[in-house]
Amino acid sequence: MSNASKSKSALNKVFEERRKFIVVGLTGRTGSGCTTAARLLASSFESFCPPRPVSVNFESDEDRKYKVLYEYLDKNWGRFHHIQLRDLITTFVLENDFGSFSAFLSSLAGLDVVDIRQKLGAGFEEDFNKLHEERVQAKLMVEKSEGGLDEDFIYDFYFKKVPEFTQIIRKSVDIFSTGTFTKLYQSFANNIRRSGLAYSDVFKPDNIYKLAQRANKLIKLLRRRSLKNSERVLVCLDAIRNPFEASFFRERYSSFYLMAISAHDSDRKARLRRDLNLTDVKIKAVDLRENPEKLKGDEFFFSQDIPRCIQLADVHIFNQEDAGSGYRELKKQLVKYLALMMHPGLVTPSRSERCMQLAFDAKVNSGCISRQVGAAVADANYSVKAIGWNDVAQGQTPCNLRNVEDLQKGEDRDAYSKYEKENSEFRGLVDRIYGRGVGSSTSSGIPCSFCFKDIQNSLDGEKNQVHTRALHAEENAFIQISKYGGQPLEGGVLFTTASPCELCSKKAYQIGITKIFYIDPYPGIAKDQILRIGGRQPDLCLFTGAVGRAYQQLFDPIMPYKEELKISEMLNVPNVKSELRARIKELEYKNGRLQGELDRLKEDL
Ligand SMILES: [Zn+2]
Ligand SMILES: [Zn+2]
Repeated sequence: MSNASKSKSALNKVFEERRKFIVVGLTGRTGSGCTTAARLLASSFESFCPPRPVSVNFESDEDRKYKVLYEYLDKNWGRFHHIQLRDLITTFVLENDFGSFSAFLSSLAGLDVVDIRQKLGAGFEEDFNKLHEERVQAKLMVEKSEGGLDEDFIYDFYFKKVPEFTQIIRKSVDIFSTGTFTKLYQSFANNIRRSGLAYSDVFKPDNIYKLAQRANKLIKLLRRRSLKNSERVLVCLDAIRNPFEASFFRERYSSFYLMAISAHDSDRKARLRRDLNLTDVKIKAVDLRENPEKLKGDEFFFSQDIPRCIQLADVHIFNQEDAGSGYRELKKQLVKYLALMMHPGLVTPSRSERCMQLAFDAKVNSGCISRQVGAAVADANYSVKAIGWNDVAQGQTPCNLRNVEDLQKGEDRDAYSKYEKENSEFRGLVDRIYGRGVGSSTSSGIPCSFCFKDIQNSLDGEKNQVHTRALHAEENAFIQISKYGGQPLEGGVLFTTASPCELCSKKAYQIGITKIFYIDPYPGIAKDQILRIGGRQPDLCLFTGAVGRAYQQLFDPIMPYKEELKISEMLNVPNVKSELRARIKELEYKNGRLQGELDRLKEDL
């Protein structure tokens, strides 16, 4: 092998690391399109069939970028394995026999067990029990040795039989009433996260990762099999609905990407009505389970919490069209991020990604103990003029640096307000909540900070946002400019890692902001009440793109593109000047020789 081709295979090796193993976790509200995205990832490039790029008359560099991404993916596409949450749940459901299943269904749906048996039929019961046996066998094989994992029996069980049977369960239980399956599986999932078992809801803290661990086992199975036939392992987890599960994979795999799929609420609901036959009442129930208003204690660990999953997402995708259009926009976004996962730095970020990343980086500066938000405000050309994060006014001490003990003992007096120090009702409630003598740090060693707003609201029996000590990220970004001077923001663009509240929306409107990009798809009534009125309504755009860790990972090239090209195409870039010099030397030498010969001939004459 020549040196050039050795370099080329070394280069392949380097990029192979990114190409051969990718885990994409999808998250989003039911009906927003996670499963559609997963199906697209699991298909061949021909049936994925993303929109063809234009090749002349580019309207912008974004069009040119799309062409680059499309052409790369066309050559490097690989089909994803689709691991569905509901199939994982089925593996837990099958740990018991049909008796447990029918009893559980009976208590959940308020149905008679005999009735359930009859309606589901003897065939269903038989299949259930047979798969239950196989599940027991599979478990034994896997436990006996890790090597058991690559048996075909295990693969067929998890990747063929279980998904098929999940479909059968779905069809079978939905005869009782539409939506029974969704409700049943949401309860199973909560149970599994709580107890490690489908049929028990006794909270055992060791089991919060149980679902994620089983998914991970399947990923390991795929990796072992791929060693045999040297295939790539591309996995799509559909879907991640609990933030701790997202962290589980993030801690394990650097090539894990959490992808949030969002849709307009009206599109989403229309899809649920049409595809799942859900009534509005049932949609409301599904939504409530996915977006719990306030989680208490252990619920935090086992409940679904889609808003927090979306906050954690690496890549935000907006599924704004319906099947009728062939999911054009969805596909284009998938093309972009899949190509970047396989080849980081292939294109540069979009201008809104660039700005949102600044807002995202700003948010960790916040000393608020309930939530960190970042914002960036740019002029009409997306040139960022200021950033901000939610925090107390400059000169005051942020919440995370204050603690109950100092307040109680009267130490670090500058950090606490006159009201906090002197109001006896307030202090009484602090003592009641935290007790006396808490110590400045807690048993786990973190400071015992407190949220003034929560305590004051508890005192007033209200939920008043006015009591928050911090300025909001968006208003802080605006204020930077009044404080330190700068350019006017009229006609500008606002970026926020959350969504603008009513107060900040009002300020944005007054400043003359024309576009607001936000990540959190739960904007309350700020949009309809504050922004949808009058003659200068700003656009509200759900952000699409990569943020945070993924921004670096996807856009930071592994090596300079120029070097990569040189090696991969075995290019030989000549040094034209030194070629000329060599030629001159050669000719001079020849010339010298000829001159000598000429002189000799002249002498002979
Ligand atoms: Zn705070
Ligand atoms: Zn606000």
